Amino acid sequence: MMAQYLGIKTQYPGALLFYRMGDFYEMFFEDAVAASQALDIALTKRGQHDGQDIPMCGVPVHSAEGYLLTLIRKGFRVAVCEQLEDPAEAKKRGSKSVVKRDVVRLVTPGTLTEESLLEARRNNYLCAFSVVRDDAALAWVDISTGECHVMQIAPVRLGPELARLMPSEVVISEAAEADLAGIVTESGASLTPLGRAAFDSTAAEKRLCTLYGIGSLDAYGTFSRAEVSALGALVEYLDITQKGKLPLLRPPVREAEAGVMQIDAATRRNLELTHALGGGRAGALLSAIDRTVTAGGARLLERRLSSPARDLETVNNRLDSVAFIHDNRRLGDDLREALRKVPDLDRALSRLALDRGGPRDLAAIRNGLEQADRIATLLQGHDLPALFSGAARALGGHDVLIDLLGQALVAEPPLLARDGGFIAAGHDSELDEMRALRDEGRSVIARMQTEYASQTGIQSLKIKHNNVLGYFIEVTATHAERMLSEPLSDIFRHRQTTANQLRFTTPDLTEMETRILNAGGQALEIEKRLYSALKDAILDSAARIGGTARALAELDLSSALADLARGENWTRPLVDKSRRLLIEGGRHPVVEQSLRKQGGAPFVANDCDLGDGTDIWLLTGPNMAGKSTFLRQTALIALLAQIGSFVPASRAEIGLVSQLFSRVGASDDLARGRSTFMVEMVETAAILNQADDHALVILDEIGRGTATYDGLSIAWATLEHLHDVNRCRALFATHYHELTALAGKLERVDNATVTVKEFEGDVIFLHEVRKGAADRSYGVQVAKLAGLPDAVVSRARVVLDALEKGEREGAGKQKAIIDDLPLFSMAAPPPAPPPQKSSALEDRMQAIHPDELTPREALQLIYELKEAS
Ligand code: ADP
Repeated sequence: MMAQYLGIKTQYPGALLFYRMGDFYEMFFEDAVAASQALDIALTKRGQHDGQDIPMCGVPVHSAEGYLLTLIRKGFRVAVCEQLEDPAEAKKRGSKSVVKRDVVRLVTPGTLTEESLLEARRNNYLCAFSVVRDDAALAWVDISTGECHVMQIAPVRLGPELARLMPSEVVISEAAEADLAGIVTESGASLTPLGRAAFDSTAAEKRLCTLYGIGSLDAYGTFSRAEVSALGALVEYLDITQKGKLPLLRPPVREAEAGVMQIDAATRRNLELTHALGGGRAGALLSAIDRTVTAGGARLLERRLSSPARDLETVNNRLDSVAFIHDNRRLGDDLREALRKVPDLDRALSRLALDRGGPRDLAAIRNGLEQADRIATLLQGHDLPALFSGAARALGGHDVLIDLLGQALVAEPPLLARDGGFIAAGHDSELDEMRALRDEGRSVIARMQTEYASQTGIQSLKIKHNNVLGYFIEVTATHAERMLSEPLSDIFRHRQTTANQLRFTTPDLTEMETRILNAGGQALEIEKRLYSALKDAILDSAARIGGTARALAELDLSSALADLARGENWTRPLVDKSRRLLIEGGRHPVVEQSLRKQGGAPFVANDCDLGDGTDIWLLTGPNMAGKSTFLRQTALIALLAQIGSFVPASRAEIGLVSQLFSRVGASDDLARGRSTFMVEMVETAAILNQADDHALVILDEIGRGTATYDGLSIAWATLEHLHDVNRCRALFATHYHELTALAGKLERVDNATVTVKEFEGDVIFLHEVRKGAADRSYGVQVAKLAGLPDAVVSRARVVLDALEKGEREGAGKQKAIIDDLPLFSMAAPPPAPPPQKSSALEDRMQAIHPDELTPREALQLIYELKEAS
């Protein structure tokens, strides 16, 4: 057995080998050591190898999924090795013969299909990247839903595209490992290098044609060599991991970079699209806007949010759908109610295709299709927008399958096909017959018990069943003598004596048992056959069912966005091909929600107007005034518009944004081991080199990460470049007041500021954005608000006054004034004002304890105080 183990293990060097032995998956050697640590299970020994103890650990087969999940999450791959024959078969070959075993599946992060291993509301992508001469392409599949995409990309765009797709696993050529490993690992995906042969584009084409059963790939469009190679590598890898059982993939859809808004990884992070800066999902835009009620709808929303469209017709079609539900509230509510009952069709389908499904997946398809039919009825009689009429057509056409599944399956089938019991009575006469025989047998046995009881005169006699003896007759030990002597001993054969009982059998009982077993076994066989037939019937319609699933997801997303728009009071944006970015009464969707939850002051809505003579707003204002919030909300509103959503504003006109960039100065990026300033400059460079005139750029405190004059100069030059060269729309927040002078010099730059009010030396944030430059920075006041010691705050005031005076009087003077500054001293706090004699009224007020007053007493008191004043 060890020889067999080692033989198999050498074929899967990078994976833990789950070696099936009876009811356990066992691991040996270093696999056992690693797994016992990762899973926190006991490490034991079994036999010796080369004179050394063999470490071993194991997990029960019935709970293996949970362990698999932990291992995959911890970065392991697992090769699942099963027994391919009954141990009895092996015994027949000879007593030393080992049961045949082989790996049936390699479990990796990108190839999961089990419900328990996947997040229902997220896609799970496996990517392959390939470079063929000057051409590069990225292909990706989600085998749990069958989606398959490919796109040509410039190699430098690999990082941003991985940031968009967030795949769990990326396959690359071994030859490119040195160059690409860093980019892949940075995206958080697990890296899988494959030999060059896997990427060979000629072999790839054949593989793809076989997979899709077509003669030439041209059937699905024209693909570049790199695209074919990337797709081929995916299929090859699926073949390796699924051991020849290929998932049900839809034909590859070509995605064009030009079709989606480009957003790089840094921008996604800054804008907290799917994950908040802390890493979790709470607090990100996605969780704030997700009102979908199906898993498919949730996955679609995340895909849209990660790739907003850039094509006007696409955007407007999506907006039309949302507007349609928004205007038909009743229909929207009914739709959402009906959609709630829709199971995850995509994933059930993919499990069935990979033969990892069960009766519940059949039922999920039945329930989903029935529900789709009901939803189609809801849509009837309405004047549907384009996307909806397409969806409505895709919902139906499953009558035959629905009928078949409807009469074949019981209402709530069990999880596993193994034990039967999922086919409804009346579907198959042979099955009904076998079941009747089996059940009849059981009642015959009940009759036998009564007969034997009267025959022996032992009223407590029972017929029972267990796995060792099968059916047996049981009496208590007190009747031993009678049962073991004639005449009863002729009929009842003694089988076993336990502490208090004696067990017997009779030829009649044995015969009955065989009949029951046979009937039961046959019934099970028939059910298994019917399971396969139903599965095949479903897979024959796989393409159409996939279309229905997509339609349901689309309907769910549109009605969820309509529900959101109504609940949050959002409006439909006007989207066109201009360069306009006009927002009236704009709000930050996440900050607004969180302020509402806190129950404090409401969010202050603000306007933004770019692209009509002015391309860039230079935003000044003290820290905490709301600059970042304003910048981000503007970007998010453009992005929401382009996923086809209404937006948090009272009015919005969005000229399609081609690229979205967002940078925050001196963000702490120590974890990635680069100096923060370096990161900031690298990221800024990326914008200045790429942004086109339809881009929207958001720069928050760029240049902050270095000395004042360096920072100011960099910010200055960056702003000029955006204005003169990129000619894009931009919001530029800075605390360098000197920059405001640029607005006078650059034609399309305007100053704007977030207003604050000064009140008795403190600042009050109004969060209102208006045209014009901030008059001063209020840094010292903010420092005071933050609780800096009074002595430091007053010292800062003195220094600030001196510096400002120096600036007014010319640079030459500044040094002299600084030299003249009195030294910092922990001056005694200013003497407290002499206590004033309090008035009678004040004394009276002091004595009041509002908590102890009844409303009536309070009113009375007010009258009295008024009288006294
Ligand atoms: P800055 O970038 O100017 O330092 P932020 O944008 O980080 O300021 O805003 C600071 C805080 O002010 C935010 O966390 C938010 O709670 C609040 N805030 C910002 N903008 C608004 C607004 N328009 N209405 C209400 N509160 C706001």
